[in-house]
Amino acid sequence: MEFVDLKSQYRRLEASVRERMDKVLEHGRYVQGPEVVELEGRLSGFTGAAHCIACSSGTDALLMALMAKGVGPGDAVFTSPFTFIATAEAIALLGATPVFVDIDPVTLNLDPEKLAKAVDGLAGGGLRARGVIPVDLFGLPADYSRINRLAESRGLFVLADAAQSLGGSVEAGDVGGQVGNLAEMTATSFFPSKPLGCYGDGGAVFTSDDALAERLISIRSHGMRADKYEHIRLGLNGRLDTLQAAVLLAKLEIFKEELIMRETIAARYTSALSSVVECPVVPPGYRSAWAQYSVRGVEKARILAALQAEGIPTAVYYPKPLHLQEAFAYLGYQKGDLPEAERASSFIFSLPMHPYLSEMDQDRVIRVIQDAAGGKI
Ligand SMILES: *Cc1c(COP(=O)(O)O)cnc(C)c1O
Repeated sequence: MEFVDLKSQYRRLEASVRERMDKVLEHGRYVQGPEVVELEGRLSGFTGAAHCIACSSGTDALLMALMAKGVGPGDAVFTSPFTFIATAEAIALLGATPVFVDIDPVTLNLDPEKLAKAVDGLAGGGLRARGVIPVDLFGLPADYSRINRLAESRGLFVLADAAQSLGGSVEAGDVGGQVGNLAEMTATSFFPSKPLGCYGDGGAVFTSDDALAERLISIRSHGMRADKYEHIRLGLNGRLDTLQAAVLLAKLEIFKEELIMRETIAARYTSALSSVVECPVVPPGYRSAWAQYSVRGVEKARILAALQAEGIPTAVYYPKPLHLQEAFAYLGYQKGDLPEAERASSFIFSLPMHPYLSEMDQDRVIRVIQDAAGGKI
């Protein structure tokens, strides 16, 4: 059993992946080739965002979006402590200050009420509140209806970290649409194990703001103007390889179907396991991309040991929240500052989740957990 099975997907797509990659090898435009432009068009159509700017990774997507907003020293950017380090790293790399806001204990995403308190409580701290990066953890979109409204009332930008949630959607409150079109800017990742993954590193930024899109395109290639050796700002080498775009075009053909396959597995896990562990909750109107199926249980150690003994792969996302990581020690957070994130990290673990997980394998996972679990948290 695989935690994320990329081989079965490759077997299924082998012919079309090879055909598309062969085309790139024939035309030879390895950087910014026609497949990149085609992919951007397809993804913009898929999400409903006016612009898709493909780039070299999810981390660079976050970095480029923050650079497009001119984020730098003296700026505070609010985000979740319960995420992969890249989210806050991008803020700190630009000399700005990540301000961690605790999560909602049910969805595990940024808590909009605590966000409002943190933004209003910043006054007098010598920092300027600039923006917020909600994270769609494990594929579930954050509460963009409330976060967008709050951000608008305080003059903040919203950059969605949708590295795990491309394919998800929301129809709730005053927000409706696909991930990629729920916030002013959205960053996603095509790392191989993400719901839409390539065969290496890749990412994209989505926006419907024409001026931001123009800046993002310039930042992606060393801050150039349309004329290649005119540089009007500093940028990155942040381009997506044409070969990776070719792989993604082949995978996009079956992406919608794969999302449904993930949903079916998640529903099966939940119906069998919700009486013994805390299962993921998808609020009404939300659709998760199910990058991970993560549960919480007091018997975490015992369950993980039982699964391991049966040869069932698991993972822990994330064992230590970002505010307690050594890299962010300079921010001065203490244990106990963000209790929900700390609590989640101590009880959480993730089960095998990919579209090709057979019912037999799902049943094995379920049986081992039912036998090992002693009760809910
Ligand atoms: C994977 C991930 C990233 C970084 O994406 P890369 O493509 O690996 O750079 C950022 N944020 C979150 C939440 C992620 O899961």
